[in-house]
Amino acid sequence: MLLRNLSYVLLVVLLVACATNPVTGRKQLMLVSEKQSISASREAYVKMLAPLEEDGKVDSDPELTERINLITSKLIAQALIYRPETENWDWRVKIIDDPETINAFCMAGGKMAIYTGMVQKLDATDDELAQVMGHEIAHALSAHTAERMSIALATSLAVTGFALTRDQPEVVLAGASLAAALAIQLPNSRASESEADVIGIELAARAGYNPNAAVTLWKKMASATGNEGSFDFLSSHPAPSKRMETLRKLIPKMMPYYEAKGERPVYPLKTD
Ligand SMILES: [Zn+2]
Repeated sequence: MLLRNLSYVLLVVLLVACATNPVTGRKQLMLVSEKQSISASREAYVKMLAPLEEDGKVDSDPELTERINLITSKLIAQALIYRPETENWDWRVKIIDDPETINAFCMAGGKMAIYTGMVQKLDATDDELAQVMGHEIAHALSAHTAERMSIALATSLAVTGFALTRDQPEVVLAGASLAAALAIQLPNSRASESEADVIGIELAARAGYNPNAAVTLWKKMASATGNEGSFDFLSSHPAPSKRMETLRKLIPKMMPYYEAKGERPVYPLKTD
């Protein structure tokens, strides 16, 4: 009986928890609100960076830091056009000194990082780095962290069978904080990945970065050996050949944005 009640609760929660992607309109499972995912991500970001900062592994190369900050600032300026309310996000980007790791992420609320391995191992150009960061920003704009946290929560709910009610926000948040830390390491769904690819290449083109770089980036990514560990871009972003084809087809549509005349706006990114 208890079990039946719990599954009923779960079913109701799942039914009411569907949301629409704010950028593409795709239906998403949303047990966790975007607001919750942002506050959980803020916590996870600080926790993740603190020990690295202590070891002097964050923003240690001023030239690279300046380069990544400029690329990211131009992309954020374009992101605000898709979702103007994200101007109030506390956007950040940190460069993590780890030449073996080919990875980058953008958590809910615009908390980003890129590993030096992404730059060094791929010998990445500005245009290619803009594709990486554009793709990651697209995940954040599309609330993919909240979606993955929701999936993680739904799974843990199904396993432990505890009831998720509105009277127990602390239960939800405790799970959410853990899920936020895990979310950036879990692969996105194929639908989320396509969304991020399509939005990412457009963000980059509008910010003045060559869309052809989306293809060369994935080509380099595919031939790079990368890290053997699980926390690696390719482990969470499979099948580069297929997405290269899709991206290649998008290039003609992107060229007018890239070739548009005029200076591109730069978002005043906080760097402290
Ligand atoms: Zn992705």
